[in-house]
Amino acid sequence: MSRASIPPSNVEIITPEDYTELARRTRTTQTDPAEIERAKANAALGLTGEAGEVADVMKKELFHRHDAHPDKIEEELGDLLWYASWVADLYGLTLTGCMQRNVDKLRARYPAGFRPEDSRNRVK
Ligand SMILES: [Mg+2]
Repeated sequence: MSRASIPPSNVEIITPEDYTELARRTRTTQTDPAEIERAKANAALGLTGEAGEVADVMKKELFHRHDAHPDKIEEELGDLLWYASWVADLYGLTLTGCMQRNVDKLRARYPAGFRPEDSRNRVK
């Protein structure tokens, strides 16, 4: 198994469904179509904003010679995940479903693991 299968001792193991349920507690639920539309815009902007925060931490490390801060990356990836779970909810999806679909796609695309030639010659 990969090194990711051994969490640090201070990490509580939760499933994507557990995470989504916890994340839902910190956002409102919209039922009015106009409010759902606004929530989609909010979630999309939040998702891209958090991706930018991850990139900014990395940019500062790589180009401004800041010390590496995996703790900050972890925080920002968590923020990104919060928005990703919101987007999934807004479209009736689950994080587990998104994860499975991605794994299925990558297995089909790179059956022998990543190889540049498979990347260049992929069908989809
Ligand atoms: Mg953030």
